[in-house]
Amino acid sequence: MVLDYNSLLLALGVSAACLAVTLMGSWIVRRAETVLLTATVGLVFVVAGIFVYSAYVDTAETSLGVANFVLFHAGFATIWGAGKQFLTGRLSIPAIVVRALAAMIFSVVPMLSGYDGLAFIADNIAIALLLFATARQYWLARAEAPAPLLGLTALYTLTAISFVLCAAVLISDGKLVLGKAPSNWAEDLSLAVCIAGMTGIGALSLALHQWRLAARHRLEAITDPLTGLLNRRALFEEYGTRPMGTTTAVIVFDIDHFKSVNDRFGHAAGDHVIKVFADELAAHCRPGDIAARVGGEEFALVLKEIMPGRAELAAEHIRRAFEAREIHIDDEVLKCTVSVGVAPGRSKPLDFDAMLSVADKALYVAKRAGRNRIELASHLQAVPLEASRTAS
Ligand code: GH3
Ligand code: MG
Ligand code: MG
Repeated sequence: MVLDYNSLLLALGVSAACLAVTLMGSWIVRRAETVLLTATVGLVFVVAGIFVYSAYVDTAETSLGVANFVLFHAGFATIWGAGKQFLTGRLSIPAIVVRALAAMIFSVVPMLSGYDGLAFIADNIAIALLLFATARQYWLARAEAPAPLLGLTALYTLTAISFVLCAAVLISDGKLVLGKAPSNWAEDLSLAVCIAGMTGIGALSLALHQWRLAARHRLEAITDPLTGLLNRRALFEEYGTRPMGTTTAVIVFDIDHFKSVNDRFGHAAGDHVIKVFADELAAHCRPGDIAARVGGEEFALVLKEIMPGRAELAAEHIRRAFEAREIHIDDEVLKCTVSVGVAPGRSKPLDFDAMLSVADKALYVAKRAGRNRIELASHLQAVPLEASRTAS
């Protein structure tokens, strides 16, 4: 070997320490991502365990062996906890402690009893189980970001297998007492796999973190913060100026006399009314429908693959449901209504802008006709797409 075992162990310790520092740095920038902190804590235990193990390789003192087991098992259990937290969004410290303690008992007891060979078998099995369990968390979470998550699953699995091999070689040697750190081909292989795995896991963890941040920013950019519906930008990004199918309907809603709600009850009450309507709208959405808040108290609903006559019906349901809602503001009960313009499916395709303006015109008619009603745009003069293209 070009480098001795202890130099490689040192290399592993340093690369793990660097990864811990990087993860902690990412956590400091974005404190809400506590999963990064969990992983950092796990790595710090592992790094400490690596340096203690390196000392044990020099002088095989029982106390060093015990310290190594305790640090490794605390570390790998915490790294499992970070995986679990990534999957479920919740950190469960008791679950981590239970796993760490179970792993410790099985290896520390034989170590203290003088059976260091047995202790290292238990140690390797415990670490392998914790790593397999960690791989499983990322496997279960794979839908979120397949490339980095499948990579993490593979690397944790490979590392786990290398610990299984270490245990297997020790078992086949059959020595319950070693008197020194285990040294065989499986140990060498495992160390190499750990160095490669650590580097890969570090890179993929950071890629995953970036992936999550980007996804969150994208979601924030297309979501209306007050109602959780899509915002105007999202609606136009989705449909832009593409022609819409003839079976697509666009419905626009505008809450009636909303200014007087603000004037009488205040802006916060107005916001509450907006949220109540948004809930009503969302509750009436089928899968595939798109509901968006396009202005202050103005909303749009896009219905795809809709049968003739259905769009008006859906609009009428929403109008009635909102009219019936009792909105509690302080001690008062408020009732609000909404006016609706419907641009139903038609024989010629229109682009989204045109559909929206057709629905808006119908909405204006509904307002003029006394509010709290729906108006169908079919009798309005809508310019078909081809005609508008040749005209411009
Ligand atoms: P109409 O029946 O004709 O629609 O009457 P209206 O009072 O609803 O008239 P209009 O649609 O012009 O009024 C919209 C008002 O909504 C004006 C603005 O002050 C208020 N507004 C816009 N955005 C918000 C918001 O986010 N929260 C609250 N509370 N009010 C808003
Ligand atoms: Mg308005
Ligand atoms: Mg209004």
